[in-house]
Amino acid sequence: MIMNGVDFETYLKHYPDKNGYFGRFGGSYVSPELQKAMDEITEAYFTICQSRKFIAELRRIRKEFQGRPTPISHLERLSNELGGVQLYVKREDLNHTGAHKLNHCMGEVMLAKYMGKKKVIAETGAGQHGVAMATAAAYFGLECDIYMGAVDIKKQAPNVARMKILGANVVEVTHGLQTLKEAVDAAFDAYTKDYHNSIYCIGSVVGPHPFPLMVRDFQHVVGEEAREQFVEMTGHLPDAIVACVGGGSNAAGFFSGFLNDPVDIYGIEPLGRGPKMGDHAASLQYGSEGVMHGFNSIMLKDENGEPAPVYSVASGLDYPSSGPEHAFLHELGRVKYDVVNDDDTIEAFYKLARKEGIIPAIESAHAVAYGMKLAKKMGTGSVLINLSGRGDKDMDYVIQNYGIR
Ligand SMILES: *Cc1c(COP(=O)(O)O)cnc(C)c1O
Repeated sequence: MIMNGVDFETYLKHYPDKNGYFGRFGGSYVSPELQKAMDEITEAYFTICQSRKFIAELRRIRKEFQGRPTPISHLERLSNELGGVQLYVKREDLNHTGAHKLNHCMGEVMLAKYMGKKKVIAETGAGQHGVAMATAAAYFGLECDIYMGAVDIKKQAPNVARMKILGANVVEVTHGLQTLKEAVDAAFDAYTKDYHNSIYCIGSVVGPHPFPLMVRDFQHVVGEEAREQFVEMTGHLPDAIVACVGGGSNAAGFFSGFLNDPVDIYGIEPLGRGPKMGDHAASLQYGSEGVMHGFNSIMLKDENGEPAPVYSVASGLDYPSSGPEHAFLHELGRVKYDVVNDDDTIEAFYKLARKEGIIPAIESAHAVAYGMKLAKKMGTGSVLINLSGRGDKDMDYVIQNYGIR
């Protein structure tokens, strides 16, 4: 498939280019000192991803430790209720630790080990990335420092306990608003001081090159498996696929299996309480071009051009930008980006639980809500949704704020 001059048959080989650009998005906007560290990571990554030994080891880990391949489930009862369209979900919620994040964390920490690093450094907001990193670090026997805002530490006690049990060092960040943005800054500072010994592992397809490339490649397994499983199950491709987009890692991996197919692709951003600035985190929908956290993309900015405060009921989606590849696919028109608000998300959360016996992460429930809307609109055909994670972490919050429906 060729669209606006881009050939999707060879897309994954050519995008990003060797400087990390997807069109004009991406790149690496860091200090010359950190650029040296990024170059080292890039070189090491290109070496291991061509090494048979590394590939075989990652395959073994996915199968024997993570529980891959994850299945696809047909949502028969929900499909019947909505009409003629058949809905399916790719079950990343059944991945070890309960979400897709482990797919790239295992890869990143394996790379760290290959590079001879002693320690991995990461930030976390709600704690999901921190738990996946702590898990991967425990598996590979590396030290793990997780930077987390003091406010988030109080809010996310179970994930803090998980990280500690797994042996990670949770570093409390006490300046500014004491949440994710400050945690990112603190983790970056720590890494800048110690990049010989350590590696900074980003939680999504964001940050300077090579992270958007590397994280997408580690998540590619989701799209590759999903395509093969779906065709085997049904004898054809889905008419449409849907994933939620925060930074965009689960979507990037899932979409990468279908870019060259005659399949409509939808990336769903959180509309939160509504379209007013500060009430949502729909960066592709309402943002503009700019550089933050070391990469050029579409982002939500305040009046000073700084990352704007954002909100979503799903803490894994409240990031003021999206990965550069999403900005590119948006501009090309290959992927349609749309939004779902908090209320429709919570309704989908309960719907999937009640009709199918699957409690989704609130992040993933955004994609489910959009899939349900599509089903009503399409009338016939099939929709495959990426269920990026399970909802155990969200149950208390949903009950407290929305009650049992
Ligand atoms: C972190 C998270 C997300 C958002 O991250 P992406 O990089 O956009 O995929 C989505 N779903 C779940 C379950 C998460 O934990």
